[in-house]
Amino acid sequence: MSHIKIDSSKCKSCYLCVDVCPKKLIKKSETIGKTGNCVVEFDDKNSQCIGCAQCAMVCPDMAIVEVYR
Ligand code: SF4
Ligand code: SF4
Repeated sequence: MSHIKIDSSKCKSCYLCVDVCPKKLIKKSETIGKTGNCVVEFDDKNSQCIGCAQCAMVCPDMAIVEVYR
């Protein structure tokens, strides 16, 4: 089962990962990050992540620190 690990302390809330995920598994969380906006969280209740790593590749701040395939 594929999944990712996000380091919220690195996230600048640009939401590029939200847009790029083909399964729409990354969502804004209620936690405020360093920019004053909400950071993101991985929300995959139905195990849909395919481990494609597009989220990690698009993140300009390397906040998606692991992609498990
Ligand atoms: S690895 Fe792919 S499917 Fe999984 S959260 Fe990232 S972009 Fe979405
Ligand atoms: S792409 Fe990176 S910095 Fe932007 S919202 Fe996603 S995890 Fe945060």
